[in-house]
Amino acid sequence: MNQTEKEIIFLDPVCTHNIWGGTKLREEFGYPVEGDDIGECWGISAHPNGDGTVRNGAFAGMKLSEVWQLHPEVFGNLNSDRFPLLTKIIDARDDLSIQVHPDDSYAKVHENGSFGKTECWYIMDCPENATLVIGHNAKTKEELAQMIHQGRWSEFIREIPVKKGDFIQIDPGTVHAIKGGLLILETQQNSDITYRVYDYDRLSGGKPRELHVEKSIDVITVPAKSVEDSVVSALGLPENQLNELYSCKYYSVFKLDVNGNAAFEQNNPFLLVSVLEGNGTVNGQAVKKGDHFILPCGYGKVEMQGQMSMIASAVRG
Ligand code: ZN
Repeated sequence: MNQTEKEIIFLDPVCTHNIWGGTKLREEFGYPVEGDDIGECWGISAHPNGDGTVRNGAFAGMKLSEVWQLHPEVFGNLNSDRFPLLTKIIDARDDLSIQVHPDDSYAKVHENGSFGKTECWYIMDCPENATLVIGHNAKTKEELAQMIHQGRWSEFIREIPVKKGDFIQIDPGTVHAIKGGLLILETQQNSDITYRVYDYDRLSGGKPRELHVEKSIDVITVPAKSVEDSVVSALGLPENQLNELYSCKYYSVFKLDVNGNAAFEQNNPFLLVSVLEGNGTVNGQAVKKGDHFILPCGYGKVEMQGQMSMIASAVRG
C-alpha cells in the first residue's frame, strides 16, 4: 500500500437544476452554482449524469469514475463494473413528483443494463409538521392500477409525518415523494432510473413532464411495507462513534456526530462521508459543512476533532 492510496479523497460535487429546487445549496452550503432552482448536490457520484471531480492529492482533476476504473485498489478491488453508490443532498423548495424505482433485474431488462435503485433518506432539516410520501393504500394490483388510472391520488398515496433526524429506507417498488421544505441526505445505488407516477399536473417549460404509468404499475410493491417498518429516528445516538442506521445488500449507512474527539478504524472497502453541519478536522485536514470525501481502502485509523454532524456509508465488503 503506498501513500497515494491512503489519501483522503475530497470531491467537487455536481449540482443540478430542478423545477422543485431552491437556493440552500448555494446559500447555506456554498456550492458555486447560480440560479434559484438548485435541487440536488451530487456530493459523491461517478454517474455519467453527474460525475464528481477529485479536488486534491494524487488524483486531483480526475473524475471519480476514472479513479474507479484506473485505481480499483483505492476501493478494495470490488467486483463491480461501476462505482456502486451515490450520495446527494436534496433541497426541495416544492414537492417532488410521486415516483418509484425498479430493482436490478427489472432495470437490467427494461433500462439498458442500468442498476435498479434502492435508496435511503436522512432528514437533515424540515419545517414543523413536515410530511413526505412513503407507500400507498392499494390492497391489490387491480386496485393499484384503478387508483392510478382514475387519478384517485388522495386515496392512493400514503403521506406520513417526519421530523429532523428521521431515517427512511426506500426499497425498489416503494412509492415515494419528497415534499416541499425538506432537506435530505440521500444514499443510493448508482442509478438514475426513476418512474414518475404523478406530477401534480405541473408544467415544466409549458409542458407536463413525462409520466411512466405502466412501468410504475409493473414495479410497485403491493401491499406497501408498513410505516413502522419504513422510518427510524436517528436522534439521541452516542456521540463520537459510527452508529449504524441501516444495512441492506447494497450499503450500510452510519450517523456520526463528533463533539470533541472521535476515533475509529476504516476497515470497509471504502467509506463515503458527508459533513452535514459544523466543522473540524479529519486526521489533521480541515473539513466543514458541505464537504464530501472518501476514506480509501486500508486507510486505517481515523481521528476526527471538532463539532460536526456526518452521514457515512459503505458497501458491504
Ligand atoms: Zn427516489
